[in-house]
Amino acid sequence: MSEMTNVDVLIIGGGPIGLACGIACQKNGLTHQIIEKGALVNSIYHYPVNMTFFSTSDRLEIGDVPFISHNPKPTRQEALEYYRRVALHWKLNISLFDEVRRVERLTEGFSVHTAKSDYQAKYVIIATGFYDIPNLLNIPGESLDKVHHYYRDPHIYFGQKIVVVGAANSAVDVAMETWRKGADVTMVIRDQQIRESVKYWIRPDIENRINEGSIKAYFNANLVGIRENEVEIETAEGKQHVIPNDYVLAMTGYLPDFSFLYSMGIEIGGDEFRTPIHDPATMKTNVDGLYLAGVICGGLKTNKWFIENSREHADLIMADIINQRGVIRP
Ligand code: FAD
Repeated sequence: MSEMTNVDVLIIGGGPIGLACGIACQKNGLTHQIIEKGALVNSIYHYPVNMTFFSTSDRLEIGDVPFISHNPKPTRQEALEYYRRVALHWKLNISLFDEVRRVERLTEGFSVHTAKSDYQAKYVIIATGFYDIPNLLNIPGESLDKVHHYYRDPHIYFGQKIVVVGAANSAVDVAMETWRKGADVTMVIRDQQIRESVKYWIRPDIENRINEGSIKAYFNANLVGIRENEVEIETAEGKQHVIPNDYVLAMTGYLPDFSFLYSMGIEIGGDEFRTPIHDPATMKTNVDGLYLAGVICGGLKTNKWFIENSREHADLIMADIINQRGVIRP
């Protein structure tokens, strides 16, 4: 077994909030290590290439580093550039393309085992987000290559018959962008309308495209089968529709990795959103020394926390840590 590296705080996840936690350590003279299983801000890296944030750039800032974008709402490219700059400016210690495999409680602190190293840490912050596990449809044919749970770029859908499943922001964005780039789009929507939560400046656009028939939509309907060249849709009245199809884009959301939380002894609430147990004033979980930060805190309520409102978790955690014995502010 390799030698253990000692740090005050080990942060799991190198998304915006994991970085904010690393910055809070730097500001308070605590040693830190961030472990990120992919690229820096891996979730944002995997967002649609043409995406624009709904937040203005100032609301995505961390560590007092100004975020200047060409338009009030920054693009994914600008955000990637920004967070790279933040990581360099604050000299954050990040192990990229590494993965935390196991966290064990010691008499004092934790041992953390990653794909590349072993660490001993007084405190562990979990900032692992929810973008790694798609909410599956669990229907026949879902494992076919033509079924995509992540959307990157519209080009391959040009001239293709695509079905978009879902009616929230991602589904609507995908339907609009692929239709504008020449795809033949059909939406399959479980409810009787586009979700109320869809951005107010997008909602009339999609509704008008559906009303005029440019984008087809089945409401009160479910996709029940996917085959090589067709899909099967069932409406609430029990009617079956089989339509020709080249691609299915299942924009049905994502889930936090609950099993990872359980493995560390974190309790999950019995509420409908399976909210991981934590104190919102300190972000401390039921396991002493183990904290949650960022969008993971919402459990299945993935539209509760954003960068905007969860970047402050870093300061709440740090205030709790520096109040504890054994850590002395420089
Ligand atoms: P993430 O950014 O998801 O970071 C978690 C990281 O943990 C990931 O990089 C992942 O690879 C890593 N990880 C997971 N497990 C492990 C492990 N075991 N070991 C090591 N690393 C691990 N928010 C806003 O505030 N404004 C917006 O305008 C906005 N627009 C959005 C648009 C889209 C299309 C989407 C999908 C989201 C948007 N959000 C927006 C939400 C925002 O991007 C997320 O809230 C943000 O990425 C959350 O940050 P986080 O650090 O909590 O989690």
